[in-house]
Amino acid sequence: MAKIEEAYSLEYDDVIEVEKAYELFWDGQIADKRAFECPKCSLQITAANIDKVRVEMKNTPHFKAYGEHEFGCSYELEVLNERNTKNETKNNQQSYIGSQSDALFLERPKTHRYVRSNQYIKREENQNELLRKNKSKKESYQKKKKSNYYSIKPLISKFIRYKNENKTKEKYIEIKKFKISYEDMFNDLACTDLNNISNYKRIYYGGGNIVRSKKNKGDYIIFFEPGITNKHNKQTALYISAKIINESLTNKKWITELESLCEEETGVKFFAYCKISQTETGKYIYLSSLSNLDFFDFRI
Ligand SMILES: [Zn+2]
Repeated sequence: MAKIEEAYSLEYDDVIEVEKAYELFWDGQIADKRAFECPKCSLQITAANIDKVRVEMKNTPHFKAYGEHEFGCSYELEVLNERNTKNETKNNQQSYIGSQSDALFLERPKTHRYVRSNQYIKREENQNELLRKNKSKKESYQKKKKSNYYSIKPLISKFIRYKNENKTKEKYIEIKKFKISYEDMFNDLACTDLNNISNYKRIYYGGGNIVRSKKNKGDYIIFFEPGITNKHNKQTALYISAKIINESLTNKKWITELESLCEEETGVKFFAYCKISQTETGKYIYLSSLSNLDFFDFRI
């Protein structure tokens, strides 16, 4: 079966990409990886891997369908048509792809942490009302709308995918109305030239290991593999304070994951939406200005 790009989430009441499903699951806004359907018919879809902690995750999250679309499902037709059009206009892909971008919000809406409990109340109050609403939301759904994200988690999964597909220059992220390509947003620390770093925050990434701070209980330090050019023998580090962990809505999950990384994991890639700071006399180059853990993640 063809790859499924989007599915309707019964819990979130919207059609979303699998990367968004992963973000919602991690935030505790959805709880059942099987509660998805085709955007236009009742074909059941599972969001594979969204329930895995990163340590266990062997593949990036993806949608899997069980069975076939209903006869005449308009979504299935739409996807088939799109694929044909895409093949015909291969030389002119830019205009097609340029219409899509992912929006990264630097702050979460105030209502965010309550979304899940509100939905549950609604469902208990009036199941029929919710079903009717679901139907209308599904009916009014249109493809290729912009995806809104509140953490870099989905962007990382997408970046890995686009890198494999050689599309990082064609895909865009929008932050505060500014567009930046995945290519420019993601900076491999091994290739980052210290004489040519952005004044703005970027997502820096690289292999490294994480250790518990000896000085301050509850703090962690990530030491990246040497890589940044133009500074020999300088190591790049990122400090994750107990404060920043505790401020996260999902702090318990974070501590469990970070602890398990400290114990045994090697070959971990860390990602952070940060700036680069250095002191002339200091031993390290720091990734600085990490706002909160929505802007940090790792992959194994
Ligand atoms: Zn369908």
